[in-house]
Amino acid sequence: MAGLVAAAEARRLGAQPVVFEKLDRPGGSMRLSSGVVWRHRDFERFRVECPGGDERLQRLLFERLDSDLAWLESLGAPVVERTTGNELTTGVRFDVEGLTATLAPDDLRLEAALTEAPDGAPLVLATGGFGASRELLREHVTPEADHVLIRAAPGSVGDGMRLGLAAGASLGDGLADVYARAMPAPPARIRPEEFVALSQLYARHARVTNNSGEVHETATWSEVDTAQWMARQPGARAWFRVDSGALAERVRERSVGDMVAVAEAAGAPVERDGEGVTVECVAGVTTTLGGLRVDEHAWAAPAVFACGADAGGIATGGYASGLAAALVFGRVAARAALGEAS
Ligand SMILES: Cc1cc2nc3c(=O)[nH]c(=O)nc-3n(C[C@H](O)[C@H](O)[C@H](O)COP(=O)(O)OP(=O)(O)OC[C@H]3O[C@@H](n4cnc5c(N)ncnc54)[C@H](O)[C@@H]3O)c2cc1C
Repeated sequence: MAGLVAAAEARRLGAQPVVFEKLDRPGGSMRLSSGVVWRHRDFERFRVECPGGDERLQRLLFERLDSDLAWLESLGAPVVERTTGNELTTGVRFDVEGLTATLAPDDLRLEAALTEAPDGAPLVLATGGFGASRELLREHVTPEADHVLIRAAPGSVGDGMRLGLAAGASLGDGLADVYARAMPAPPARIRPEEFVALSQLYARHARVTNNSGEVHETATWSEVDTAQWMARQPGARAWFRVDSGALAERVRERSVGDMVAVAEAAGAPVERDGEGVTVECVAGVTTTLGGLRVDEHAWAAPAVFACGADAGGIATGGYASGLAAALVFGRVAARAALGEAS
């Protein structure tokens, strides 16, 4: 998303950007996402939930998001909902196909994969981090990388990081942080378009254990702590035990029972007994949260800017909206690359 946003902003400023896209369709993980672009309602809460982040970047995201959402809407991006369903956050849910069509109009110049930095023109890196590279996940995130479910679009294998480092950029803090979700464990069959519908977001109502019976107490509303913990357990697995009485509990628009049912239908190991149900889950790595170190102009190295999941320092130590970061810093990067004030 960040690259398409940067291109839209560059075009608004009169430039003629070229977008490189390695897959046969633009949109990346944004196109697989729920499309909820959000921020915390309260800046202090954002700081507390993402304590390792760079305060300057976090403040920019917090202060710019609402007007950037209005800009996106003014381009024609279709809004589905004006609420996030979470009282701690505010934002907008877009239809992701419509959002892609808005940001990638037919006359946008799209070229195939970028393999090395082009000479003579500023470069905005927006390759979506390295969530789809088991090799880089093993190096930076977890020795259990072979077992995680890759819940990201397949193109995001760290190309931006590699190109940025080659150009003289450095890595930021929190490279081991990922946004992940508990997902039905194999032999469940999960197609990318089912990543959202099959997520198992009820650790708060469950007893979560690893294969040795060690318990993890869920500490965050996003349950990112649980999913990150799972990613580092043997086999990247955990077992969610839910008492019968908790199956009717609701998490946003779904009940716990609904989520268990879709896991069972997909083929995950699910055991029911008279007192409840146990679901075997696997960590689904969705986006890496660490990346290149950038300043508040998205500057990473001379003539090289990074945004979206290629840039770290925003959600470090916790979780914040990756789509919001892509939107705000995509625009920031385009303006900085063109020498415009941000
Ligand atoms: C199932 C799911 C649900 C999600 N739900 C939400 C949500 O509701 N809210 C939220 O805030 N976030 C959500 N996210 C996360 C969000 O989608 C990402 O944080 C966001 O898309 C990151 O934006 P990006 O521009 O960095 O990467 P992407 O949107 O993935 O775009 C990166 C693009 O770069 C391309 N690319 C990579 N390497 C190259 C190369 N060398 N040359 C050319 N092109 C290349 C990729 O193919 C891709 O198209 C979700 C993600 C998933 C998978």
